[in-house]
Amino acid sequence: MQLKKLLIMKIKIKHCKIAEEDHKDCKRWYAHTFHYQGSDNHQGSVESREIICVAKDFDNLPIEHKMGILAHEIGHLIAGYEADEITADITAKNALGVRIRYMNSEYGRNLQFLNKADIKIMQAMLNE
Ligand SMILES: [Zn+2]
Ligand SMILES: [Zn+2]
Repeated sequence: MQLKKLLIMKIKIKHCKIAEEDHKDCKRWYAHTFHYQGSDNHQGSVESREIICVAKDFDNLPIEHKMGILAHEIGHLIAGYEADEITADITAKNALGVRIRYMNSEYGRNLQFLNKADIKIMQAMLNE
């Protein structure tokens, strides 16, 4: 619990150009991790392990998608640079206690979302 709290408190969400371009290329791409702007050392820097980059449209997503995407990206941050998509979701489940689900919506195909109970878990962690 303590560790989880520490981790969430450190995470910063930033807008970035690459996230913007990715989202233009593919609607369901709203976020990425392990990007440290101005540096090609994006795997190693401590700071990059605490940043989730998002496109501007992320801000306007319904809460269930927002929290689903954040949980997934936090899973990436914990699992590490080389972890694949499934590992990110499993890691999020183990570390945060939320189950990331996928649906086709007007906001993107196969987009992450959380159910109501899991949204509450995320909100409690983010507001602590
Ligand atoms: Zn970025
Ligand atoms: Zn991912």
